[in-house]
Amino acid sequence: MLRLTLGDFELTAISDGIYPLDGGAFFGIVPKILWQKMVNADENNRVPAGLNSLVVRTDRHTVLIETGIGNKLPEKMVKQYGQPAQLLDNFDALGLAPEDIDIVINTHLHFDHCGWNTIRAGDKFAATFPKAKYYVQEGEWRHAHENQRDAVSYLSENYDPLVESGQMQLLRGDQEVIPGVSVQVFPGHTRDMQAVIITSGGKTACYISDLIPTTAHIDLNWAMAFDLYPLETLESKKRYYARAIPGKWLTVFTHDPNAPWACVEKDENGKLVAKATRSADLFD
Ligand SMILES: [Zn+2]
Repeated sequence: MLRLTLGDFELTAISDGIYPLDGGAFFGIVPKILWQKMVNADENNRVPAGLNSLVVRTDRHTVLIETGIGNKLPEKMVKQYGQPAQLLDNFDALGLAPEDIDIVINTHLHFDHCGWNTIRAGDKFAATFPKAKYYVQEGEWRHAHENQRDAVSYLSENYDPLVESGQMQLLRGDQEVIPGVSVQVFPGHTRDMQAVIITSGGKTACYISDLIPTTAHIDLNWAMAFDLYPLETLESKKRYYARAIPGKWLTVFTHDPNAPWACVEKDENGKLVAKATRSADLFD
């Protein structure tokens, strides 16, 4: 777990574990001869992907961004992805209890981003974070019910019980959730995927989710084959960098197994690079 201070806020990167993804799907149209210089694939061409969540502590709220794969994956999917289910153990290690979470934000509703939203309770599902308000975009929730190309990635038990009980709020577009924490839609991976922008004391961090899933996906054209709208991914990345690079934002990477965050910069040749960041480098 890594922790840093952002103005008056404290940010902690916390993981639900590591799971395997198909390397071809992970890097889209990028030839393996290029991506294998950055990531090692196993004998089945799978690469390790992280499940990074972010805990933001403000003076009044504790916010959890993204909830990993969880512990109730169907058997068929466990065979494909495993089920590390480490998030709550890491909560323990932090001295944090599920009851401490005031707000849960899901960037979108694919199974590897909202799995710990709920847990089994008998033959029903209950909120893992009983006191939290949950937030996702309404368009994303509607898309989850539309049975499109990525239908296999949606498991309704992760969100429908919360929508039905009123514990999950459906947002329409960009908005502030609490002072200093806002969501902004960046289409591409799905049409309504939202990033979470955290600002305090003039410093900004952004949980950019599957728009830039790892430090190996920083290049504008290195995008996942999972993306439903690849040209919009490109435009969203440009729009993101136009603010994040001059603003020296900290970018949080949802699937990077090694580096949950870094600053994206342009090097002297104009190439986008991830600069590893310790609190002291960036903010002091
Ligand atoms: Zn996704």
